[in-house]
Amino acid sequence: MANGSERGWKQNPIIGIAAIAVLVIALVLILSRVRCGGGGGATAEPTAKLTVACAACQHLYEVGRADIGCSPTDDDEIFRVKAMQEAKCPKCGHKGAVIAFTCKKCGKPFAPPQSSKASKDFKCPHCGKSPWLK
Ligand SMILES: [Zn+2]
Ligand SMILES: [Zn+2]
Repeated sequence: MANGSERGWKQNPIIGIAAIAVLVIALVLILSRVRCGGGGGATAEPTAKLTVACAACQHLYEVGRADIGCSPTDDDEIFRVKAMQEAKCPKCGHKGAVIAFTCKKCGKPFAPPQSSKASKDFKCPHCGKSPWLK
């Protein structure tokens, strides 16, 4: 019984899986193709150093491209992703970090709040003001 309605059901998951596969392939293509110059800011210099915050102890430190095995020509986006995975905290040795935010008020980097809820009342550790607005 209910053979007719089952037919439609069987097609849907396949379409879903195909859509996901296409998405994954597109993502891999974007990630693997280090956009050479890309569109827009062709003269923009690649970021040489990033300020990151240790995911374990919130210690702020800088990572250079060479520190994490990133080539100078790699896209900034790749540098950022790699930094988050490969950066090793000089204080506690933890591997893994988050990109530090910059305070709009005093311009100093700080470890981002750990939840969006906490970010509402978040105060800059340097100037004590809300870092989101100028
Ligand atoms: Zn640490
Ligand atoms: Zn500040």
